[in-house]
Amino acid sequence: MEGIIVKGIGGLYYVKCEDKLYTCKARGKFRHNKLSPMIGDYVKISIDGEDGVIEEIYDRKSELIRPVVANVTQAFIVFAFRHPDLNRDLLSKFLLLCEYNNLKSIICFNKMDLENEEIDKVREELESAGYEVLYLEAKNNVGLEKLKDKIKGNISVFCGPSGVGKSTILNKFLGREFMETGEISNKLKRGKHTTRHSELVEFEDGLLVDTPGFSSLELDFIPKDELQYCFREFDKYRDGCKFNNCMHYKEPNCAVKEAVQDGKIHSSRYEFYIKTLEEIMSCRGNKK
Ligand code: GDP
Ligand code: ZN
Repeated sequence: MEGIIVKGIGGLYYVKCEDKLYTCKARGKFRHNKLSPMIGDYVKISIDGEDGVIEEIYDRKSELIRPVVANVTQAFIVFAFRHPDLNRDLLSKFLLLCEYNNLKSIICFNKMDLENEEIDKVREELESAGYEVLYLEAKNNVGLEKLKDKIKGNISVFCGPSGVGKSTILNKFLGREFMETGEISNKLKRGKHTTRHSELVEFEDGLLVDTPGFSSLELDFIPKDELQYCFREFDKYRDGCKFNNCMHYKEPNCAVKEAVQDGKIHSSRYEFYIKTLEEIMSCRGNKK
């Protein structure tokens, strides 16, 4: 039988096959191969009485580390313009991480009930780069239907900085207190999120990772010559560069730089590319 791991606790994996949930152990051979099953894995299981055994793990299409989930297909990148103030570099980093991890990204601006003078500028920049943008007031249930429409057929993760409303959205969707929201934990004066295992939860004909993703935002593990492929709006121009291995940095006759000058690529996106490239190049181990 084939299914997907939706939950894992203490060496036991819960595998969803069609409409049944099986509790499975993993074969020892995975340990020898240093391969351990993770939630989101598509697996082949055999059933022995009540319990199952994971026989095979199929190739992963993507692999997130925080939380540990395989085969996520898309990320809702949640930000706000106010409370907390929009950090454009951080948003760019999230987009970059999604591109690098092969995830489709959908940007969600939450807290649209608060003032936001920057919106037109930001919208123009993101849409010209080819990103889809949704506008929400999660607290007031505004925009959530549009978000729901995107879930079908996907394994989705919510990510973004703390305080933007990720837990509010997840709690509304999943109808139980999966995570404490900021308000509650401030009152109780405890740490923000208690550690717990992530789970894949069925929702709107798709699966949601029930804890927010990507808390770590270091980008220096991205090889410097792969970085440019995370900027999808460069795709159209790359072939026109004089040098095959052009990094669109200090090289002459660069079609990407020309597109920036002509206003076809947003200059702030290009500047972010250069800034990140320089960061990567200045890290030890990445200098070639
Ligand atoms: P998280 O850290 O991203 O999970 O954020 P939370 O879901 O904990 O939300 C942080 C705070 O923002 C809470 O006090 C929420 O009530 C509040 N919040 C959530 N959605 C909205 C919204 O649409 N508008 C406003 N003004 N506040 C919101
Ligand atoms: Zn170039």
